[in-house]
Amino acid sequence: MWNISLVFKTFLFLVFFTCISSLSAKYNSILLDKNKDELIIYYNIPSANYIEIDSHYDNILIKGKTFTTSMDGKFKITLNIKSEVSREFYDPLRVYSNGEFLLYKDYLLPKTIRYENGTVVNKIQDTYPNFSILENDEYILGNRYIFWGDEKPIKILGLEKNRDLKENILKVYKEVFNYYSNVFGHIIKKKPVVVIDFTENGGDFHYKGDVLDDFLSYNVLNVSKLDKGKYHQIYSFIAHEIFHIWNSYEHNHFGKSWLHEGSAEYFSIKSLFKLGYVDAHKVESIQRAYLNACYRYYKDNSKKIMNENNSDFSIYVCGNALHILLEKLENENIVLDIWKILFKDSSYNSDDFIYSIKKQPSIKKETIARIYDFIYREGGVVRSIELLSGK
Ligand SMILES: [Zn+2]
Repeated sequence: MWNISLVFKTFLFLVFFTCISSLSAKYNSILLDKNKDELIIYYNIPSANYIEIDSHYDNILIKGKTFTTSMDGKFKITLNIKSEVSREFYDPLRVYSNGEFLLYKDYLLPKTIRYENGTVVNKIQDTYPNFSILENDEYILGNRYIFWGDEKPIKILGLEKNRDLKENILKVYKEVFNYYSNVFGHIIKKKPVVVIDFTENGGDFHYKGDVLDDFLSYNVLNVSKLDKGKYHQIYSFIAHEIFHIWNSYEHNHFGKSWLHEGSAEYFSIKSLFKLGYVDAHKVESIQRAYLNACYRYYKDNSKKIMNENNSDFSIYVCGNALHILLEKLENENIVLDIWKILFKDSSYNSDDFIYSIKKQPSIKKETIARIYDFIYREGGVVRSIELLSGK
């Protein structure tokens, strides 16, 4: 196997450095190769003589094996593949505990490119050129990511000593996925690849995850510090990310993030309730907690308008509180119906939420006014929650 792989790699390099440059000299391309714990990225950028590497790579760059100036448009950067789960949203390289890793395509592209004629283009400019990434058996090429590993629908890593939790996670994942499929329709696009990685590094319990189109990545840290009763935090985190398969991958979401994140929060708890993982009493106390937290936030930030506020707190907590408000003013079927309407199209905007509510004949006029006030008017969040709870 080792020899075959080596022959294949040699073949790829020959193709890359001889044929490609002559056959398609005008195309920019990237080829990736892995050597032990190093990732080597080869760039072919005709007529370029300098590239500036994305600063996200600063801490993992191997400078001695990196060449950012060139006479013939060929550059090379070498990264150290090291396992680290940062507190940042995206890691420069997300390395899982089995050695497989995820790369964000955006970071792969040079920050700036300088050409022989002195022109410089920056990644944020419209004039920035397109790149093709050469395919390879060792990685999966997605729209927004490259996953260096095997394509398996779902992998749960790092729970060898806690088989009960591992089985539960798999069960929850499948049940929640099926629940959303039944309620909101089956996924037509390519099914997601899922990695759920549990690690113990002696720190606090912490989790983070993201959905890059059809790739779901979960990192859960130090779960041994949780008693079993708290496992539903992990379950709801898992259910939250799965909802993004519907609300940002199968159907593209545009506009403000409160709709995108708030709905994932809302349906994560709802799905766990429907599947019997949390009881009605618990759901009620969770929903009250969201409403109260959102209320207090906007009491303290009374000049802010929910639709214009991009803080994580408002997006997640008040985005969910908005859904809870709609449920309490009407009923939970109405919330489902609104989302079924949004999912009728391949894409939707955050403003479509209120439009769909306005168009729904069974919704009370008063509800429409409360929801509109909550989203778009100064003081609206506080007024709506006060009216609801008789504060
Ligand atoms: Zn989310």
